[in-house]
Amino acid sequence: LSVTDLVDASYTRIHDVDDRINAFLTLNEEAARTRAKQLDESGTGGLLYGMPIGVKDNIVTKDLRTTCASKILEGFTPLHDATVVQKLNDQGSVTIGKINMDEFAMGSSNENSAYATVRNPWNTDHVPGGSSGGSAAAVAAGEVLFALGSDTGGSIRQPAAYCGVVGLKPTYGRVSRFGLVAFASSLDQIGPLTRNVEDNAYLLQTIAGHDSYDATSANLDVPEYTAALTGDVKGLKIAVPKEYLAEGVDPAVKEKVLAALKELERLGATWDEVSLPHSKYALATYYLLSSSEASANLARFDGVRYGLRTDNADNLIDMYKQTRSEGFGDEVKRRIMLGTFALSSGYYDAYYKKAQKARTLIKKDFEDIFENYDVVIGPTTPTTAFKVGENTKDPLTMYANDILTIPVNLAGVPGISVPCGTIDGLPVGLQIIGKHFDEATVYRVAHAFE
Ligand code: GLN
Repeated sequence: LSVTDLVDASYTRIHDVDDRINAFLTLNEEAARTRAKQLDESGTGGLLYGMPIGVKDNIVTKDLRTTCASKILEGFTPLHDATVVQKLNDQGSVTIGKINMDEFAMGSSNENSAYATVRNPWNTDHVPGGSSGGSAAAVAAGEVLFALGSDTGGSIRQPAAYCGVVGLKPTYGRVSRFGLVAFASSLDQIGPLTRNVEDNAYLLQTIAGHDSYDATSANLDVPEYTAALTGDVKGLKIAVPKEYLAEGVDPAVKEKVLAALKELERLGATWDEVSLPHSKYALATYYLLSSSEASANLARFDGVRYGLRTDNADNLIDMYKQTRSEGFGDEVKRRIMLGTFALSSGYYDAYYKKAQKARTLIKKDFEDIFENYDVVIGPTTPTTAFKVGENTKDPLTMYANDILTIPVNLAGVPGISVPCGTIDGLPVGLQIIGKHFDEATVYRVAHAFE
């Protein structure tokens, strides 16, 4: 099998199915085929030699259109690669195209893309999750073997769960954010979506590590993740937060999670029920902090520096206003308004500062548990994938989708979603959460269970 064959197979599949899935926003076909030929000629490897990969469209790619699924970036072509893309290229992978998402990664269903709603390959009446729904769907539909996503409050794990693939949010600081278009800088992490845990470990291996271009990237050695895939979980101590199996979680999902725990028990692990007492504040804390950060980060889209500029303005201030009114979608505007309000003088202490304090408590809940346990386990989402259109009328119900993934971002710890069965033909995800920088143990448990 040559690299050209692999790349061919990827595009054939995309041309066959993507008009029903809408996972791709931009195909890189000509450049990818040229690269495949070069890789075949050189015949030399790298960890991901010849592997077709899709890149979420909020990760910048040199000379390849990057939209964040927003109209405001119309016509924007980056001048450089994100660090993760550079690392992929160094390890021999082939970028097949740029992947659809919720606009600026704000959403849980991919219905916020300015271009097209992504569909769940298991049942196209249902959403694939979001905001990395395109990445999860592309892997699930066999369009690419590997995809990169980003996770600010669950955007890798929730779509992975809904589409029956493996998705990891690394520890904050494990992977460079240089070249990731910022949504909420203190929460955003890039991570891998793949068909199985082993592939996932290879992809993380490729993209992890310190980067002098990202001051928040950790200067720590990257372990060999595949070495952790031993299948051995004997003696491992698992904590199961009672809040993760409480009211609001579909009993059928709960049953799948309990069956997964039973299987891990059979393999020699033990589990206890614990509590994350402050997790009830996680949703409010997240939406305050992430919207505050977003309101600052998105100020750069002003019609001057990138992409779209309105034709309907006769002075500068008007141009800013009109460009932003025309370029941003409703959800992005909602977040910018919420964040601007929370940061405004007179409200800052009551909202932003309070949320920072709550974040510290949520983080401490995890630290306390990890003094006695190796991993925390629960469902990734309270239900399986909902129907397209079902939650669009009410942003608050939509936000509630991330109730089980958001605490992990607030604490900065790593979390993975692995498939653990199906309900009525739709996949369920098991979430495994680890200590800071201990992705290896997360992978070990995920692989043993898989
Ligand atoms: N669904 C969450 C939100 O809309 C999480 C998004 C993300 O992780 N990028 O903010």
